[in-house]
Amino acid sequence: MNFGQLIVITGPSGVGKGTLVRLLLERHPEWYLSVSATTRAPREGEVDGKDYYFFSKEQFEIMIQAEKFLEWAEYAGNYYGTPRTPVEEQLHQGNYVLLEIELLGARQIQQTFPHAVKIFILPPSMSELEDRLRKRAKDSEAVIERRLERAKEEIAASGEFDWQIVNDNLETALDEIESILVTTRNQKSEN
Ligand code: 5GP
Repeated sequence: MNFGQLIVITGPSGVGKGTLVRLLLERHPEWYLSVSATTRAPREGEVDGKDYYFFSKEQFEIMIQAEKFLEWAEYAGNYYGTPRTPVEEQLHQGNYVLLEIELLGARQIQQTFPHAVKIFILPPSMSELEDRLRKRAKDSEAVIERRLERAKEEIAASGEFDWQIVNDNLETALDEIESILVTTRNQKSEN
């Protein structure tokens, strides 16, 4: 059976995962990006079904019970999860599937999909991460503080993942991720 490749991009909030994934998809429109579900309120400009599927806590908990998620986690007071069906369908069609998720979810994927390629994106430094989180001005000060606390825990766990990439220069980080993924693809096709 044709089976695709699951790719997990993880790392702290503000590190630039979203931008890297968006640019990767511009280079590889044939790859599929999973759209997550969340209970967080939409930010200005976010579109339901494109950026996230937005749900209430009650709705999300019902979906957890019904095993609708490949993984899910609580992050800074909200739930986030990867809808199971689209990812499984894409993998069965032999496609590359990207998940952009936080640490706890990435660990769950590690358990259930040991062959997933797992890439951790690191900031050049903690002060640079703090700077980026404040400059993007998307969250309140209290939320930024929670994200920074969580970032320290996440960075401490970066060694659990196959690859670590420092997002200092966007183009360089992108080239590095792409070369990891292309190498993986070539190895698969040789087997
Ligand atoms: P944000 O609120 O900034 O959009 O996302 C907060 C964190 O949740 C980010 O680190 C993001 O990668 C992560 N995240 C987004 N979707 C998912 C998901 O489906 N599962 C998990 N575990 N984390 C997610």
